[in-house]
Amino acid sequence: MTRPQPTREEGLRRLGGFLPFAGRDYAERRNHVPGTVSGLSPYVRHRLITEEEIACAVLQRHPYEAAEKFLQEVCWRTYWKGWLEMRPEIWLHYREDLEALRERLETETDFLGQVQAAESGETGMECLDDWVKELRETGYLHNHVRMWFASIWIHTLRLPWQLGADFFLRHLLDGDAASNTLSWRWVCGLQTPGKVYVASAENIERYTEGRYAPFGLLVTETPPIPTDHSIPKPQLLPARETHVPGEKTVLLVTEEDLYPESWCVPRADVSGVILIDTADATARISSNVMTFKREALESTKERLVASGYSSVTLLSGTMETQRENVSRLLQGHHVGGTTTVSMMGATVGPTRQIMDPLLSLLKQEGVAVRRLRRDWDDALWPHATHGFFRFKEQIPIVLRQFV
Ligand SMILES: Cc1cc2nc3c(=O)[nH]c(=O)nc-3n(C[C@H](O)[C@H](O)[C@H](O)COP(=O)(O)OP(=O)(O)OC[C@H]3O[C@@H](n4cnc5c(N)ncnc54)[C@H](O)[C@@H]3O)c2cc1C
Repeated sequence: MTRPQPTREEGLRRLGGFLPFAGRDYAERRNHVPGTVSGLSPYVRHRLITEEEIACAVLQRHPYEAAEKFLQEVCWRTYWKGWLEMRPEIWLHYREDLEALRERLETETDFLGQVQAAESGETGMECLDDWVKELRETGYLHNHVRMWFASIWIHTLRLPWQLGADFFLRHLLDGDAASNTLSWRWVCGLQTPGKVYVASAENIERYTEGRYAPFGLLVTETPPIPTDHSIPKPQLLPARETHVPGEKTVLLVTEEDLYPESWCVPRADVSGVILIDTADATARISSNVMTFKREALESTKERLVASGYSSVTLLSGTMETQRENVSRLLQGHHVGGTTTVSMMGATVGPTRQIMDPLLSLLKQEGVAVRRLRRDWDDALWPHATHGFFRFKEQIPIVLRQFV
Protein backbone atom coordinates (compact mmCIF):
# COMPACT_ATOMS: atom_id res chain seq x y z
CA MET A 1 0.00 0.00 0.00
CA THR A 2 1.44 3.41 -0.95
CA ARG A 3 1.79 5.87 1.91
CA PRO A 4 -1.40 7.99 1.88
CA GLN A 5 -0.81 11.69 1.21
CA PRO A 6 -2.54 13.60 4.02
CA THR A 7 -4.38 16.12 1.86
CA ARG A 8 -8.04 16.75 1.13
CA GLU A 9 -7.28 16.58 -2.60
CA GLU A 10 -5.89 13.05 -2.22
CA GLY A 11 -8.94 12.00 -0.14
CA LEU A 12 -11.25 13.25 -2.89
CA ARG A 13 -9.15 11.55 -5.56
CA ARG A 14 -9.38 8.24 -3.69
CA LEU A 15 -13.10 8.67 -3.22
CA GLY A 16 -13.52 9.28 -6.96
CA GLY A 17 -11.44 6.21 -7.80
CA PHE A 18 -13.47 4.01 -5.45
CA LEU A 19 -16.97 5.15 -6.51
CA PRO A 20 -17.44 2.54 -9.29
CA PHE A 21 -16.81 -0.21 -6.69
CA ALA A 22 -19.03 1.15 -3.88
CA GLY A 23 -22.06 -0.89 -4.98
CA ARG A 24 -22.23 -4.65 -5.46
CA ASP A 25 -18.44 -5.05 -5.78
CA TYR A 26 -18.00 -3.80 -2.24
CA ALA A 27 -20.86 -5.91 -0.87
CA GLU A 28 -19.41 -9.07 -2.42
CA ARG A 29 -15.68 -8.53 -1.90
CA ARG A 30 -15.29 -6.36 1.20
CA ASN A 31 -14.47 -9.26 3.52
CA HIS A 32 -11.70 -10.65 1.34
CA VAL A 33 -8.07 -9.87 2.12
CA PRO A 34 -7.07 -8.23 -0.12
CA GLY A 35 -10.58 -7.22 -1.06
CA THR A 36 -12.63 -4.34 -2.41
CA VAL A 37 -12.39 -1.61 0.21
CA SER A 38 -11.97 2.15 -0.10
CA GLY A 39 -8.90 2.89 2.06
CA LEU A 40 -10.63 6.19 2.96
CA SER A 41 -10.43 5.79 6.73
CA PRO A 42 -7.43 8.08 7.49
CA TYR A 43 -9.20 10.86 5.52
CA VAL A 44 -12.62 10.46 7.15
CA ARG A 45 -11.04 10.02 10.58
CA HIS A 46 -9.44 13.49 10.30
CA ARG A 47 -12.37 14.81 8.30
CA LEU A 48 -10.20 15.82 5.39
CA ILE A 49 -13.29 14.50 3.64
CA THR A 50 -16.62 13.98 5.38
CA GLU A 51 -19.14 11.16 5.67
CA GLU A 52 -21.71 13.45 4.07
CA GLU A 53 -19.52 14.00 1.00
CA ILE A 54 -18.93 10.26 0.69
CA ALA A 55 -22.62 9.40 0.99
CA CYS A 56 -23.68 12.07 -1.53
CA ALA A 57 -21.04 11.02 -4.08
CA VAL A 58 -21.96 7.34 -3.69
CA LEU A 59 -25.69 8.01 -4.08
CA GLN A 60 -25.12 10.03 -7.24
CA ARG A 61 -23.50 6.95 -8.73
CA HIS A 62 -25.54 4.04 -7.27
CA PRO A 63 -29.10 3.46 -6.06
CA TYR A 64 -29.33 3.16 -2.26
CA GLU A 65 -30.07 -0.59 -2.40
CA ALA A 66 -26.88 -1.29 -4.40
CA ALA A 67 -24.65 0.79 -2.12
CA GLU A 68 -26.42 -0.07 1.15
CA LYS A 69 -23.58 -2.17 2.54
CA PHE A 70 -20.95 0.51 1.93
CA LEU A 71 -23.15 3.30 3.31
CA GLN A 72 -23.87 1.21 6.41
CA GLU A 73 -20.14 0.76 7.01
CA VAL A 74 -19.56 4.52 6.68
CA CYS A 75 -22.35 4.95 9.22
CA TRP A 76 -20.77 2.43 11.62
CA ARG A 77 -18.19 5.12 12.27
CA THR A 78 -20.94 7.67 13.00
CA TYR A 79 -22.75 5.14 15.19
CA TRP A 80 -19.64 4.45 17.30
CA LYS A 81 -18.93 8.19 17.64
CA GLY A 82 -22.49 8.92 18.78
CA TRP A 83 -22.58 5.88 21.09
CA LEU A 84 -19.39 6.96 22.90
CA GLU A 85 -20.40 10.61 22.96
CA MET A 86 -23.40 9.55 25.05
CA ARG A 87 -21.30 7.25 27.28
CA PRO A 88 -18.00 9.07 27.92
CA GLU A 89 -17.37 6.94 31.05
CA ILE A 90 -16.43 4.02 28.79
CA TRP A 91 -13.43 5.99 27.50
CA LEU A 92 -12.43 7.09 31.01
CA HIS A 93 -12.59 3.50 32.34
CA TYR A 94 -10.50 2.33 29.40
CA ARG A 95 -7.85 4.98 30.14
CA GLU A 96 -7.81 4.06 33.84
CA ASP A 97 -7.46 0.36 33.03
CA LEU A 98 -4.62 1.19 30.65
CA GLU A 99 -2.75 3.14 33.33
CA ALA A 100 -3.09 0.21 35.76
CA LEU A 101 -1.83 -2.22 33.09
CA ARG A 102 1.17 0.01 32.34
CA GLU A 103 2.09 -0.15 36.02
CA ARG A 104 1.84 -3.96 35.88
CA LEU A 105 4.16 -3.95 32.86
CA GLU A 106 6.78 -2.13 34.94
CA THR A 107 6.85 -4.80 37.64
CA GLU A 108 5.89 -8.12 35.99
CA THR A 109 8.64 -9.25 33.64
CA ASP A 110 6.84 -12.32 32.20
CA PHE A 111 3.82 -10.22 31.35
CA LEU A 112 6.04 -7.54 29.80
CA GLY A 113 7.80 -10.22 27.73
CA GLN A 114 4.47 -11.54 26.34
CA VAL A 115 3.24 -8.08 25.40
CA GLN A 116 6.58 -7.14 23.83
CA ALA A 117 6.60 -10.36 21.77
CA ALA A 118 3.08 -9.64 20.51
CA GLU A 119 3.83 -5.98 19.73
CA SER A 120 7.03 -6.78 17.87
CA GLY A 121 5.55 -9.64 15.82
CA GLU A 122 7.51 -12.41 17.54
CA THR A 123 4.78 -14.74 18.79
CA GLY A 124 5.61 -17.49 16.30
CA MET A 125 2.07 -17.37 14.88
CA GLU A 126 2.76 -16.46 11.27
CA CYS A 127 -0.47 -14.57 10.50
CA LEU A 128 -0.39 -12.41 13.63
CA ASP A 129 3.32 -11.66 13.30
CA ASP A 130 2.82 -10.59 9.66
CA TRP A 131 -0.14 -8.37 10.55
CA VAL A 132 1.90 -6.67 13.30
CA LYS A 133 4.60 -5.86 10.76
CA GLU A 134 2.02 -4.64 8.23
CA LEU A 135 0.42 -2.39 10.84
CA ARG A 136 3.76 -0.94 11.92
CA GLU A 137 4.87 -0.34 8.33
CA THR A 138 1.67 0.96 6.72
CA GLY A 139 -0.52 2.27 9.59
CA TYR A 140 -3.42 0.27 8.13
CA LEU A 141 -5.07 -3.14 8.44
CA HIS A 142 -8.14 -4.44 6.59
CA ASN A 143 -11.28 -4.64 8.77
CA HIS A 144 -11.41 -8.45 8.72
CA VAL A 145 -7.73 -8.59 9.74
CA ARG A 146 -8.45 -6.19 12.63
CA MET A 147 -11.20 -8.54 13.82
CA TRP A 148 -8.97 -11.64 13.59
CA PHE A 149 -6.05 -9.77 15.16
CA ALA A 150 -8.12 -8.59 18.14
CA SER A 151 -9.65 -12.05 18.61
CA ILE A 152 -6.26 -13.78 18.64
CA TRP A 153 -4.79 -11.13 20.97
CA ILE A 154 -7.66 -11.39 23.44
CA HIS A 155 -8.91 -14.99 23.26
CA THR A 156 -5.88 -17.02 22.16
CA LEU A 157 -2.95 -15.07 23.65
CA ARG A 158 -5.14 -13.99 26.58
CA LEU A 159 -3.64 -10.51 26.64
CA PRO A 160 -5.68 -7.58 27.99
CA TRP A 161 -7.82 -5.99 25.26
CA GLN A 162 -6.93 -2.51 26.51
CA LEU A 163 -3.25 -3.05 25.57
CA GLY A 164 -4.26 -4.30 22.11
CA ALA A 165 -6.53 -1.28 21.60
CA ASP A 166 -3.69 1.00 22.70
CA PHE A 167 -1.27 -0.70 20.29
CA PHE A 168 -3.76 -0.09 17.44
CA LEU A 169 -4.37 3.51 18.46
CA ARG A 170 -0.63 4.23 18.42
CA HIS A 171 -0.09 2.73 14.97
CA LEU A 172 -3.27 3.20 12.90
CA LEU A 173 -3.40 6.28 10.68
CA ASP A 174 -7.17 6.17 11.21
CA GLY A 175 -6.83 5.50 14.96
CA ASP A 176 -10.01 6.80 16.57
CA ALA A 177 -11.12 6.62 20.21
CA ALA A 178 -14.67 5.53 19.39
CA SER A 179 -14.21 3.10 16.45
CA ASN A 180 -11.16 1.50 18.01
CA THR A 181 -12.16 1.16 21.67
CA LEU A 182 -15.68 -0.01 20.90
CA SER A 183 -14.56 -2.49 18.22
CA TRP A 184 -12.11 -4.08 20.68
CA ARG A 185 -14.88 -4.23 23.28
CA TRP A 186 -17.16 -5.84 20.68
CA VAL A 187 -14.61 -8.63 20.07
CA CYS A 188 -14.47 -9.18 23.87
CA GLY A 189 -18.26 -9.58 24.08
CA LEU A 190 -18.58 -6.38 26.15
CA GLN A 191 -20.31 -4.26 23.56
CA THR A 192 -23.16 -6.61 22.66
CA PRO A 193 -23.41 -8.41 25.99
CA GLY A 194 -22.91 -12.16 25.64
CA LYS A 195 -21.88 -11.98 21.97
CA VAL A 196 -18.15 -12.70 21.64
CA TYR A 197 -16.28 -12.59 18.33
CA VAL A 198 -13.94 -15.59 18.01
CA ALA A 199 -11.84 -15.87 14.84
CA SER A 200 -11.71 -19.32 13.24
CA ALA A 201 -8.93 -20.85 11.15
CA GLU A 202 -11.50 -21.80 8.45
CA ASN A 203 -12.63 -18.21 8.12
CA ILE A 204 -9.04 -16.91 7.98
CA GLU A 205 -8.08 -19.52 5.38
CA ARG A 206 -11.16 -18.77 3.27
CA TYR A 207 -10.89 -14.99 3.25
CA THR A 208 -7.11 -14.82 2.87
CA GLU A 209 -7.51 -17.22 -0.06
CA GLY A 210 -5.27 -19.79 1.62
CA ARG A 211 -2.46 -17.38 2.55
CA TYR A 212 -2.90 -18.27 6.25
CA ALA A 213 -4.43 -21.40 7.77
CA PRO A 214 -3.77 -21.39 11.53
CA PHE A 215 -5.54 -24.72 12.22
CA GLY A 216 -5.03 -26.01 15.76
CA LEU A 217 -3.55 -22.70 16.95
CA LEU A 218 -6.64 -20.69 17.86
CA VAL A 219 -9.06 -20.81 20.77
CA THR A 220 -12.42 -21.77 19.27
CA GLU A 221 -14.83 -21.02 22.12
CA THR A 222 -14.64 -18.64 25.02
CA PRO A 223 -16.96 -16.79 27.44
CA PRO A 224 -17.13 -12.97 27.29
CA ILE A 225 -14.21 -11.18 28.94
CA PRO A 226 -15.21 -10.15 32.49
CA THR A 227 -15.49 -6.47 33.37
CA ASP A 228 -16.08 -4.35 36.49
CA HIS A 229 -18.07 -1.79 34.53
CA SER A 230 -21.55 -2.28 33.10
CA ILE A 231 -22.68 -0.26 30.09
CA PRO A 232 -23.98 3.09 31.38
CA LYS A 233 -27.32 4.51 30.25
CA PRO A 234 -26.92 7.00 27.39
CA GLN A 235 -26.53 10.62 28.53
CA LEU A 236 -28.11 13.48 26.64
CA LEU A 237 -25.79 14.86 23.99
CA PRO A 238 -24.39 18.30 24.84
CA ALA A 239 -26.53 21.06 23.32
CA ARG A 240 -25.44 21.96 19.82
CA GLU A 241 -23.93 25.43 19.38
CA THR A 242 -24.08 27.25 16.07
CA HIS A 243 -22.39 30.23 14.51
CA VAL A 244 -24.27 33.51 14.89
CA PRO A 245 -24.39 35.07 11.40
CA GLY A 246 -22.46 38.33 11.25
CA GLU A 247 -20.43 37.59 14.40
CA LYS A 248 -16.68 37.76 13.87
CA THR A 249 -14.98 34.57 15.00
CA VAL A 250 -11.65 32.80 15.04
CA LEU A 251 -11.73 29.17 13.89
CA LEU A 252 -9.87 26.77 16.16
CA VAL A 253 -8.90 23.73 14.10
CA THR A 254 -7.54 20.43 15.39
CA GLU A 255 -6.81 17.08 13.74
CA GLU A 256 -10.42 16.05 14.50
CA ASP A 257 -11.92 18.12 11.69
CA LEU A 258 -9.66 19.47 8.97
CA TYR A 259 -12.33 20.80 6.64
CA PRO A 260 -13.32 24.14 8.27
CA GLU A 261 -14.50 25.54 4.92
CA SER A 262 -17.65 23.42 5.49
CA TRP A 263 -18.33 24.49 9.10
CA CYS A 264 -21.20 26.79 8.07
CA VAL A 265 -19.25 29.88 9.12
CA PRO A 266 -19.22 32.36 6.21
CA ARG A 267 -15.73 33.42 5.16
CA ALA A 268 -16.62 37.09 5.82
CA ASP A 269 -17.19 36.26 9.52
CA VAL A 270 -13.83 34.52 9.98
CA SER A 271 -11.24 36.92 11.37
CA GLY A 272 -8.53 34.28 11.72
CA VAL A 273 -7.77 30.57 11.85
CA ILE A 274 -5.60 28.87 14.48
CA LEU A 275 -4.60 25.28 13.79
CA ILE A 276 -3.44 23.42 16.90
CA ASP A 277 -1.02 20.52 16.60
CA THR A 278 -1.77 18.18 19.54
CA ALA A 279 0.49 15.36 18.34
CA ASP A 280 3.22 16.02 20.95
CA ALA A 281 0.69 15.72 23.74
CA THR A 282 -0.91 12.54 22.38
CA ALA A 283 0.50 9.59 24.27
CA ARG A 284 3.20 7.65 22.40
CA ILE A 285 1.81 7.65 18.87
CA SER A 286 4.12 6.10 16.25
CA SER A 287 6.25 8.28 13.99
CA ASN A 288 4.06 7.28 10.97
CA VAL A 289 0.93 8.52 12.73
CA MET A 290 2.69 11.67 14.00
CA THR A 291 3.88 12.50 10.46
CA PHE A 292 0.44 11.89 8.96
CA LYS A 293 -1.24 14.20 11.48
CA ARG A 294 1.44 16.93 11.13
CA GLU A 295 1.33 16.90 7.35
CA ALA A 296 -2.48 16.87 7.38
CA LEU A 297 -2.46 20.04 9.51
CA GLU A 298 0.16 21.66 7.25
CA SER A 299 -1.76 20.79 4.08
CA THR A 300 -4.93 22.22 5.64
CA LYS A 301 -3.12 25.44 6.46
CA GLU A 302 -1.79 25.72 2.90
CA ARG A 303 -5.24 25.03 1.45
CA LEU A 304 -6.88 27.69 3.63
CA VAL A 305 -4.26 30.31 2.76
CA ALA A 306 -4.53 29.48 -0.95
CA SER A 307 -8.30 29.87 -0.84
CA GLY A 308 -8.12 33.35 0.71
CA TYR A 309 -8.48 32.89 4.50
CA SER A 310 -6.43 35.49 6.36
CA SER A 311 -4.42 35.25 9.61
CA VAL A 312 -3.95 31.48 9.37
CA THR A 313 -1.49 30.22 12.02
CA LEU A 314 -0.35 26.68 12.79
CA LEU A 315 0.81 26.25 16.41
CA SER A 316 2.94 23.35 17.56
CA GLY A 317 5.11 22.53 20.58
CA THR A 318 4.05 21.80 24.14
CA MET A 319 0.42 22.49 25.06
CA GLU A 320 1.65 25.03 27.62
CA THR A 321 3.33 27.21 24.99
CA GLN A 322 0.41 26.69 22.62
CA ARG A 323 -2.02 27.92 25.28
CA GLU A 324 0.04 31.10 25.72
CA ASN A 325 0.26 31.57 21.96
CA VAL A 326 -3.49 31.08 21.44
CA SER A 327 -4.24 33.72 24.11
CA ARG A 328 -1.73 36.10 22.54
CA LEU A 329 -3.09 35.56 19.03
CA LEU A 330 -6.66 36.08 20.17
CA GLN A 331 -5.79 39.49 21.60
CA GLY A 332 -5.46 40.64 17.99
CA HIS A 333 -9.06 39.62 17.30
CA HIS A 334 -11.05 41.59 19.90
CA VAL A 335 -14.27 42.86 18.39
CA GLY A 336 -16.34 45.24 20.54
CA GLY A 337 -14.67 43.92 23.70
CA THR A 338 -15.30 40.23 23.03
CA THR A 339 -13.53 37.53 21.11
CA THR A 340 -15.32 34.46 19.86
CA VAL A 341 -13.71 31.19 18.85
CA SER A 342 -15.52 28.41 17.01
CA MET A 343 -14.40 24.83 17.12
CA MET A 344 -15.68 21.62 15.54
CA GLY A 345 -15.55 18.07 16.59
CA ALA A 346 -13.44 17.43 19.68
CA THR A 347 -15.40 14.27 20.45
CA VAL A 348 -14.64 11.90 23.36
CA GLY A 349 -10.97 10.93 23.13
CA PRO A 350 -7.43 12.30 23.42
CA THR A 351 -7.96 15.59 21.56
CA ARG A 352 -10.86 16.55 23.80
CA GLN A 353 -8.78 15.71 26.86
CA ILE A 354 -6.06 18.02 25.55
CA MET A 355 -8.35 20.83 24.32
CA ASP A 356 -10.77 21.06 27.25
CA PRO A 357 -8.25 22.74 29.61
CA LEU A 358 -7.32 25.20 26.86
CA LEU A 359 -10.96 26.08 26.20
CA SER A 360 -11.61 26.54 29.96
CA LEU A 361 -8.66 28.91 30.14
CA LEU A 362 -9.93 30.91 27.20
CA LYS A 363 -13.38 31.16 28.82
CA GLN A 364 -11.73 32.47 32.01
CA GLU A 365 -10.05 35.11 29.86
CA GLY A 366 -13.47 36.20 28.60
CA VAL A 367 -13.39 34.47 25.25
CA ALA A 368 -16.74 33.10 24.03
CA VAL A 369 -16.31 29.50 22.86
CA ARG A 370 -18.75 27.97 20.34
CA ARG A 371 -18.60 24.19 20.01
CA LEU A 372 -20.07 23.49 16.60
CA ARG A 373 -21.53 20.20 15.38
CA ARG A 374 -22.00 19.00 11.84
CA ASP A 375 -25.53 18.41 10.53
CA TRP A 376 -24.53 14.79 9.82
CA ASP A 377 -23.60 14.10 13.44
CA ASP A 378 -26.56 16.03 14.74
CA ALA A 379 -28.95 13.96 12.62
CA LEU A 380 -27.45 10.54 13.33
CA TRP A 381 -25.86 10.54 16.79
CA PRO A 382 -29.18 10.72 18.70
CA HIS A 383 -30.08 7.32 17.17
CA ALA A 384 -27.04 5.60 18.73
CA THR A 385 -28.90 4.83 21.94
CA HIS A 386 -29.15 1.05 21.42
CA GLY A 387 -27.52 -1.50 19.11
CA PHE A 388 -26.46 -0.95 15.50
CA PHE A 389 -29.45 -2.94 14.23
CA ARG A 390 -31.88 -0.27 15.43
CA PHE A 391 -29.55 2.53 14.28
CA LYS A 392 -29.21 1.19 10.74
CA GLU A 393 -32.95 1.35 10.15
CA GLN A 394 -32.64 5.13 10.42
CA ILE A 395 -29.86 5.42 7.84
CA PRO A 396 -31.97 5.60 4.64
CA ILE A 397 -34.44 7.95 6.35
CA VAL A 398 -31.75 10.34 7.59
CA LEU A 399 -29.79 10.20 4.31
CA ARG A 400 -32.77 11.79 2.51
CA GLN A 401 -31.88 15.06 4.31
CA PHE A 402 -28.49 15.11 2.65
CA VAL A 403 -29.01 14.03 -0.96
C1 LIG B 1 -10.49 -4.11 16.43
C2 LIG B 1 -10.88 -3.04 15.45
C3 LIG B 1 -10.36 -1.76 15.59
C4 LIG B 1 -10.74 -0.74 14.70
N1 LIG B 1 -10.21 0.52 14.87
C5 LIG B 1 -10.60 1.52 14.04
C6 LIG B 1 -10.09 2.83 14.20
O1 LIG B 1 -9.31 3.13 15.11
N2 LIG B 1 -10.49 3.79 13.32
C7 LIG B 1 -11.37 3.52 12.29
O2 LIG B 1 -11.69 4.44 11.51
N3 LIG B 1 -11.89 2.29 12.14
C8 LIG B 1 -11.54 1.29 12.96
N4 LIG B 1 -12.05 0.03 12.79
C9 LIG B 1 -13.10 -0.16 11.77
C10 LIG B 1 -12.63 -0.62 10.38
O3 LIG B 1 -11.77 -1.71 10.48
C11 LIG B 1 -11.93 0.49 9.58
O4 LIG B 1 -12.70 1.67 9.59
C12 LIG B 1 -11.76 0.06 8.11
O5 LIG B 1 -11.02 -1.13 8.05
C13 LIG B 1 -11.07 1.15 7.34
O6 LIG B 1 -10.72 0.72 6.04
P1 LIG B 1 -11.43 1.30 4.76
O7 LIG B 1 -11.39 2.78 4.78
O8 LIG B 1 -10.82 0.64 3.57
O9 LIG B 1 -12.92 0.80 4.99
P2 LIG B 1 -14.16 0.61 4.03
O10 LIG B 1 -14.61 -0.80 4.17
O11 LIG B 1 -13.87 1.09 2.65
O12 LIG B 1 -15.29 1.50 4.71
C14 LIG B 1 -15.49 2.89 4.40
C15 LIG B 1 -15.43 3.72 5.68
O13 LIG B 1 -16.43 3.30 6.59
C16 LIG B 1 -15.95 3.35 7.94
N5 LIG B 1 -15.97 1.97 8.47
C17 LIG B 1 -15.90 0.81 7.77
N6 LIG B 1 -16.03 -0.25 8.59
C18 LIG B 1 -16.16 0.25 9.84
C19 LIG B 1 -16.33 -0.34 11.13
N7 LIG B 1 -16.41 -1.66 11.30
N8 LIG B 1 -16.40 0.48 12.21
C20 LIG B 1 -16.33 1.82 12.06
N9 LIG B 1 -16.20 2.43 10.87
C21 LIG B 1 -16.11 1.66 9.77
C22 LIG B 1 -14.53 3.90 7.87
O14 LIG B 1 -14.56 5.28 8.10
C23 LIG B 1 -14.12 3.57 6.44
O15 LIG B 1 -13.17 4.45 5.93
C24 LIG B 1 -11.68 -1.02 13.66
C25 LIG B 1 -12.20 -2.31 13.54
C26 LIG B 1 -11.80 -3.32 14.41
C27 LIG B 1 -12.39 -4.68 14.25
